[in-house]
Amino acid sequence: MLKKLEHLEGAIQEKIDGIKDLASLNDLRVKVLGRKGEITLLLKEIKHLTPEERVHTGRLANEIKTNLEKLLEVKKQDLEQEEINIRLLEEKIDITLPGLPYINGRKHPLTRITEEIKEIFLAMSFSIAEGPEIEWDYYNFEALNVPKDHPARDMQDTLYISEDILLRTHTSPVQVRMMEKTAPQLPLKIIVPGRVYRRDDDATHSPMFHQVEGLLIDEHINFGHLKSMLLHFAQHVFGEEVKVRYRPSFFPFTEPSAEMDISCVNCKGSGCRVCSQTGWLEILGAGMVHPQVLEYGGYDPKKVNGFAFGMGIERIAMLKYGINDLRLFFDNDHRFLAQI
Ligand SMILES: [Zn+2]
Repeated sequence: MLKKLEHLEGAIQEKIDGIKDLASLNDLRVKVLGRKGEITLLLKEIKHLTPEERVHTGRLANEIKTNLEKLLEVKKQDLEQEEINIRLLEEKIDITLPGLPYINGRKHPLTRITEEIKEIFLAMSFSIAEGPEIEWDYYNFEALNVPKDHPARDMQDTLYISEDILLRTHTSPVQVRMMEKTAPQLPLKIIVPGRVYRRDDDATHSPMFHQVEGLLIDEHINFGHLKSMLLHFAQHVFGEEVKVRYRPSFFPFTEPSAEMDISCVNCKGSGCRVCSQTGWLEILGAGMVHPQVLEYGGYDPKKVNGFAFGMGIERIAMLKYGINDLRLFFDNDHRFLAQI
């Protein structure tokens, strides 16, 4: 019996040493100390011994049992610690690994051009005015000297909401609204950036696009003031070497009216595909404010005069950045937007 016990103790100690995980250790504990475990069963046999043997064997058996319990507990703690160490090692953060790529946001090319144009005119003491995109027919056409039966209305494919209400086809109605607010005070010096709407939709037209226009009303204003201001603007946006020229034109709200061209940004004026071999690119319309429009706005055309100009922001951006399809501005394609 004693030998059996000692032999069993040795065998169990060896098994404990060889165990590598908590699950196997638990299995062994049940096998040894469980209700039907090897030690438990052996202890039950003690009652068959003689009284003298029983005392001695019983004490030794209990010592062995306690010893094994301790060993199992120590092993359990070792294995638990080992598991924690492995996990710490596996979950360790390597701060030398390269980070995830971070994409910087940037301003949309149209926003950048608009801001650039605003800055140029703010520096010449213009202020910025805004107005509604859903507009009365009166402000969009009538007060700009375009009565209902005027042929000039055919020039613009208008999106009407009702007979009297429409999506503004240009930023010019803000001119009239600002004149009404300001007259008879002088000077009135504003630029009006904003969205406008027409029914066109092709590579050079979008049903929604952006315009910026300018208006200056004061005493003794002449076409020379307009020319010098627009030359300054063109040189600022397209470079000092750019040349400008004016061609007579017609707008109902200005008289006289002109279109301003700049020397081609692509060929510098020698003629290429971009400028249809002319060496020139049309960029804006301008003119002296029509006396009728001044009167609609509340000014006396005998005492004051002024000039106005207007341009498409997309057109300026296309020429400056060499973009050939206007729709690219509105596709939200990062590959395109990231290039500018
Ligand atoms: Zn050219």
